[in-house]
Amino acid sequence: MTGLDLVPARHRALFIDGEWRPAQSGAVFPVHDPADESVLVELPDADATDARAALDAAAAAQPGWTASAPRERGELLRAAYEAVVAQSDEFAHLISLEMGKPLAEAKGEVAYGAEFFRWFAEEAPRIQGRWLAAPGGGSRLLTIRKPVGPCLLITPWNFPLAMATRKVGAALAAGCTMVVKPAELTPLTTLAVTGIFERIGLPAGVLNVITTTKAPEVSAALMADRRLRKVSFTGSTPVGKILVGQSAGELQRMSMELGGNAPFIVFEDADLDAAVDGAMVAKMRNMGEACTAANRFFVHASVADRFAQLMADRMGMLVVGRGQEPGTQVGPLIDARAVASVSALVDGAVAQGATVVTGGKAMTGPGFFYPPTVLLGAPPDAEITNREIFGPVASISTFTTEAEVVARANDTEFGLASYVYTADLARTLRMAEALDFGMVGINTGLVSNPAAPFGGMKHSGFGREGGFEGIEEYLETTYVALPL
Ligand code: NAD
Repeated sequence: MTGLDLVPARHRALFIDGEWRPAQSGAVFPVHDPADESVLVELPDADATDARAALDAAAAAQPGWTASAPRERGELLRAAYEAVVAQSDEFAHLISLEMGKPLAEAKGEVAYGAEFFRWFAEEAPRIQGRWLAAPGGGSRLLTIRKPVGPCLLITPWNFPLAMATRKVGAALAAGCTMVVKPAELTPLTTLAVTGIFERIGLPAGVLNVITTTKAPEVSAALMADRRLRKVSFTGSTPVGKILVGQSAGELQRMSMELGGNAPFIVFEDADLDAAVDGAMVAKMRNMGEACTAANRFFVHASVADRFAQLMADRMGMLVVGRGQEPGTQVGPLIDARAVASVSALVDGAVAQGATVVTGGKAMTGPGFFYPPTVLLGAPPDAEITNREIFGPVASISTFTTEAEVVARANDTEFGLASYVYTADLARTLRMAEALDFGMVGINTGLVSNPAAPFGGMKHSGFGREGGFEGIEEYLETTYVALPL
């Protein structure tokens, strides 16, 4: 099984107004297997003309979708959930094939990604307005919730299923139509999900998908169009800033899920074995290619050497290989640029005095492999301390007081995930309040949950996905004044 069966030849196409189409220019681009650099398939390379056709379809479908019964939208999402779950193995293989992650992790992503459809299936019938008496009396205030309108949903390559479902699920539940632009490195999983929506009878034009290598051209064309009312973007902070700037012209509503620089803090009273277990998850999920990945390990000086040795032992034992091979625990990085970037960060830290406890040198190809690596003592001004590593490298430094570690953890422009290991309840609460991050994991290395509001602050963006908050991003409020 490769998973490619989920995207038959007919579906290796743009999906516009309920039809699978080539790009109007006839252009195509290749999708690669990061484990051996071979070409998996070629897909249409959409340009601004195709993107406008997709928005035409979304705009035309919007009134009908707005008028649809919430239960109808919920039932469609529920059917999509069942269909993804029924093909979990195929989806896991496809994700692993195009993105590289080990099969076991890909299965985890399928369960997590599908759950957004189930969660939002249940949220669709619970959209509510308010009714209240004006404080001064004499009138009543009513609020009505409406879908914001046609959306542009842009996803990254690192979670090809989950990053799409948490946007698509919320937008569909709210009653929005959409143009989805998956990452050009991993577009196949989105096409597989689109095939499901076609099969279960989602009305034409509600969901449109364009594959392209011309993301800047496509987003500029769509965002210059006043019919587009909302952009939800998950990706890097620099691209997020471009999109926020671009939104000024037509003032689209924006949701920004951007980069992270998560601190992972281990206090002296923590259960050290549990902290190492959590650290392995927080660091190594997705080979470190996660916005929530632990990026800076702050370990109390009294336990730092022991923690580093335990981490190095665990990291050094991990099996690196092709994601679909049984036994593989660490797959390839996404491309050659990713390997070069991780190598440069590690080499730079070593040049500034960090010690390599394990790993530290890129592996030879084919495929984009980098070994699990532990560094000790990278200085605060090292690039590895200040940039998202996005690879399997744990950089450990020490601290001595709670105030010091809070200051150092918050000393970043990012504010997405953070992790704290401690056995002290009062300290737990102090840390949760003191850390300037959208998510705080206490004695856990995994914070993602479809029922929780996922998102960041500062340069990690704004808006939340999942939870009760997730659907709000796709709803407008109309207030109705009712004098008595
Ligand atoms: P990226 O910013 O390079 O690309 C993300 C998406 O944006 C892709 O689909 C890409 O084609 C598109 N894009 C690029 N330029 C564009 C433009 N000018 N207009 C419109 N679209 C454009 O990011 P990436 O390398 O795919 O993903 C990794 C980044 O995503 C990391 O920084 C990671 O932290 C972040 N991320 C954040 C979250 C979160 O929820 N906060 C989740 C996953 C990944």
